Amino acid sequence: MKRLSFLLLTLSFFLILPSCRPSGSAPAESTLEAGDPLPVRGLAIEAPKPAGIDRFLTFVEEELVPAHFNLLILRVDWNYAYESHPELRDPDPLTREDVQRIVALCRKHDIRLVPQINLLGHQSWAKTTHALLREYPQFDENPSVKTENYTPWPNPERLYCKSYCPLHPEVHDVVFAVVDEVCDAFGADAFHAGMDEVFYLGEEECPRCHDKDKAELFAGEVTLIHDHLAEKGRQLMIWGDRLIDGRTTGIGEWEASYNDTWPAIDLIPKDVFICDWHYERADLTAAYFALKGFPVATCGYRNPEVCLQQIADQRRFRRQSAPAAAERFQGYIHTIWSGNANFLDRYYTIKDEKPAPRGKADAEAAPKLDDARALLSVIQTFRQMP
Ligand SMILES: [Zn+2]
Repeated sequence: MKRLSFLLLTLSFFLILPSCRPSGSAPAESTLEAGDPLPVRGLAIEAPKPAGIDRFLTFVEEELVPAHFNLLILRVDWNYAYESHPELRDPDPLTREDVQRIVALCRKHDIRLVPQINLLGHQSWAKTTHALLREYPQFDENPSVKTENYTPWPNPERLYCKSYCPLHPEVHDVVFAVVDEVCDAFGADAFHAGMDEVFYLGEEECPRCHDKDKAELFAGEVTLIHDHLAEKGRQLMIWGDRLIDGRTTGIGEWEASYNDTWPAIDLIPKDVFICDWHYERADLTAAYFALKGFPVATCGYRNPEVCLQQIADQRRFRRQSAPAAAERFQGYIHTIWSGNANFLDRYYTIKDEKPAPRGKADAEAAPKLDDARALLSVIQTFRQMP
């Protein structure tokens, strides 16, 4: 979840409660020309609930497939009927059979399907503590901060979302069991661990972390998850914000880091796939990641101009970089942060709108910042690309 979405969610609470190939399989130099189609054309969105699967699969088949999308990152979190830890299930979760229907459609259309569970950060939202810390409060990095006392950001405790303690001796027994289970169910060769906007890390009150370097803590958790996935030949994907120095770049403390995690960029394995999200400007940090050796895709959200600039930048970077770096610019992933069903409602409403008569004030009043409108622009662009 991102700050923009946080604001959106705050304002719209009644409405709503970041093929992708490993860099080694990117196309050869000869394809890095004006007609380069981008190796990754992705969408990251919440997984549907069981009742919404039919409509979502129709959306994938009728909207994404004709635009040559080849990556679908589904935010599953606790919306799965985990057998290893049934206590972590959301009400009415996806079953293995439900997931098989999504897997089958994606395989039919050569779409790489990647499940996501938010790890480390994003263990709460506003006053709601999510399943992991609800069931295992001993994993909480700073239990003195209570989600029930949450007040809108900025609040005195700087509570945005809770984190688990990466050094708790039992947390990975639980986390890796559900990660393995969801990857098996999705037949996945990659897993997205989120790890964005981690504000609580190395907190004073944590007896294990309080004297540790935050970059080393963050890098240690990334590396541990990476190594666990690698045992089964799976790739780790994460959001990139904690690896960017928010002060030097001027990008700030949301899309980049103020809490000293950014030196972790030099401490983590180079085959971690970076999802480099920027929503207000087409910041050029994809070049930073690629030149550090990481496969990277730029991620946009709800400003159509920014999204299309990000796609154009990826293609330009691929054309003008040395071959070794060029192949690391993997493409573009659009992100949707509302609920799956709510998004589809808005998407089809906007898609079915009749164009307003020219010069009408109505046309000018159409919202310029809208994730569904932006996705329609991306789809149109992808359809025109080779
Ligand atoms: Zn800790």
